[in-house]
Amino acid sequence: MLQTKPARKHAIPRWFFSSDFRLQKVRNSDFGAKKSGIGDKAQLSKFGIPTVVNLPGVGANLQDNDELSAFWEFTSNFTDPQSFGSVIATSANSTSIEPDLWTYFVPVELSGFFHGMSIVAANTPNVFTLITLRAGSKSQGYVRLTGAHPQDLLDINKLRFQGPGGRDDIVVLREALKRWRRVINEDEEIAKYVEREVAPGANVTSDADLEEYILNNVFAHHACCTAAIGADNDPRAVLDGDFNVRGVNNLRVVDASSFPESPGYFPQSPIYMISEKAAEVIIRDAKAARY
Ligand SMILES: Cc1cc2nc3c(=O)[nH]c(=O)nc-3n(C[C@H](O)[C@H](O)[C@H](O)COP(=O)(O)OP(=O)(O)OC[C@H]3O[C@@H](n4cnc5c(N)ncnc54)[C@H](O)[C@@H]3O)c2cc1C
Repeated sequence: MLQTKPARKHAIPRWFFSSDFRLQKVRNSDFGAKKSGIGDKAQLSKFGIPTVVNLPGVGANLQDNDELSAFWEFTSNFTDPQSFGSVIATSANSTSIEPDLWTYFVPVELSGFFHGMSIVAANTPNVFTLITLRAGSKSQGYVRLTGAHPQDLLDINKLRFQGPGGRDDIVVLREALKRWRRVINEDEEIAKYVEREVAPGANVTSDADLEEYILNNVFAHHACCTAAIGADNDPRAVLDGDFNVRGVNNLRVVDASSFPESPGYFPQSPIYMISEKAAEVIIRDAKAARY
């Protein structure tokens, strides 16, 4: 089985990726997520939490894009910190009409999102980073409990590159990386500014080495889909089409967790769109109930 960086237990606010904490944020604290009893019965029972509504989809279906950085040292500093650009493309073997690759460029080192990233960026004004974002990656992971206490850490695992289509996701990133390296290193107009390739690095050339680089460096920041909208006959559906939590009165979830599948490159606009729809639904229902 392929293994990316080991799954971590994250010491982050518990609502961050977890649909059941998103439930918590829309009701008051007596509805604390892990005490709410809304979720996968097997998991709740494991930690002694009585099940109020058995919704196996809560915390399942965790999806994200895959992103990969490559960066180069240039011969001089960038003078415009706003230098930014992007290219949309379709991977070679894609059968979809929608492009699945978004490559964006930043004039500093950006190898992912982490505490201290702005310090790295400030200290690398001569570094050019190229980030390839693969939209529609096939991974489906999970967010699970590790205990009943609200401050117990969550087990968050994206199961990246595992399961059907995982191999394709790696190959798409690998081929995109190869193509971009050719552009940066071989295009005369660009190559004359390049001091050296920092990462993956000139010694990383074989497909196997590139894949290892991918497994060690892939990142993402568009987690979604852990409280998905779904049809009445879908046992994994957490929400109905009006954002209601199934089996619970007067409780809706409207955020990135509501999507049944990743909305694509960048989720913010789709989140605004579902929010507008939710506002209409809520107003409609309030009028019908004569609030
Ligand atoms: C570093 C970074 C950069 C990004 N850049 C982009 C980008 O350029 N474009 C793009 O489309 N997407 C981007 N994203 C992704 C995007 O920000 C998220 O997908 C999106 O914000 C998720 O929206 P949401 O409403 O689901 O959750 P959030 O935006 O996280 O909103 C959750 C809200 O709930 C509040 N909250 C939590 N718990 C409670 C509680 N118990 N009580 C009350 N309030 C609570 C939080 O304070 C927060 O305001 C980026 C993400 C990161 C981390």
